[in-house]
Amino acid sequence: MKERPSFPARVQGLGEQPKPRPAAPAIAQPQGIGLDSGAVRQRMVDKLMALGVRDAAVLEAMASVERHRFVDSALANQAYEDTSLPIGLGQTISKPSVVARMAELLRNGSSQKLGRVLEIGTGCGYQAAVLSQLASEVYSMERLRGLHDKARANLRNLFLPNVHLLFGDGMLGFPQGAPYAGIIAAAGGEAIPAAWIEQLAMGGRLVAPVAGSDGGQSAGQQVLMVVDKTPHGLRQTVLEAVHFVPLKSGFA
Ligand code: SAH
Repeated sequence: MKERPSFPARVQGLGEQPKPRPAAPAIAQPQGIGLDSGAVRQRMVDKLMALGVRDAAVLEAMASVERHRFVDSALANQAYEDTSLPIGLGQTISKPSVVARMAELLRNGSSQKLGRVLEIGTGCGYQAAVLSQLASEVYSMERLRGLHDKARANLRNLFLPNVHLLFGDGMLGFPQGAPYAGIIAAAGGEAIPAAWIEQLAMGGRLVAPVAGSDGGQSAGQQVLMVVDKTPHGLRQTVLEAVHFVPLKSGFA
């Protein structure tokens, strides 16, 4: 079930690899409107800042990872809008503002890189690529083989040796990589699986969507939850309403 990627060591940095260029068009395009241009991501980052994202490391990671390479080419022109997009098998890539918000919460204002991070729900691999800029190691689990393979293909050319893609049920976590400084889930269940809490390091932080369980009107409505593991016990903080695909057990 555990698989490790074997990325070819051919590219140094995200978004910096030389790309084959098509023949020059008859009429030159103005600079900065192509999806390969950093300007298009910088505009997205400006919007993230306007939405309240402050963490410079997160903004830098969001500026460097080319989101359009993770979605179907027919959707690439929407890649820098703040919207979730289908990635196949009924799943979606989270919107940039949610990826940035969760990464910011995970970092919790630290001036240093995070240690090992576990991501549940690799999907197309976009968030794993963002996290690879912010953590020493990223273990990312996906329960759908088709998406696990897609993420592998999307990440192959980026050469991110600190990203480890794992195929399996993320509800069980990945004990071999524990303890984790951070755990982040891109799919929401009824409760936070016990394995995640067990595998969180002391002083570590978990960020995950969870279905409201008060039995009232908000039942079924997801909220973003932060859990800090402290020497005095778990500290839970409930944040804003969110909308993630469901966390499911088993794999397919
Ligand atoms: N971070 C992803 C978002 C993918 S959507 C991205 O950047 O694209 C969430 C993903 O969680 C889906 O692909 C879904 O299949 C996966 N998922 C749901 N339950 C899971 C589980 N128990 N273990 C692993 N992955 C799971």
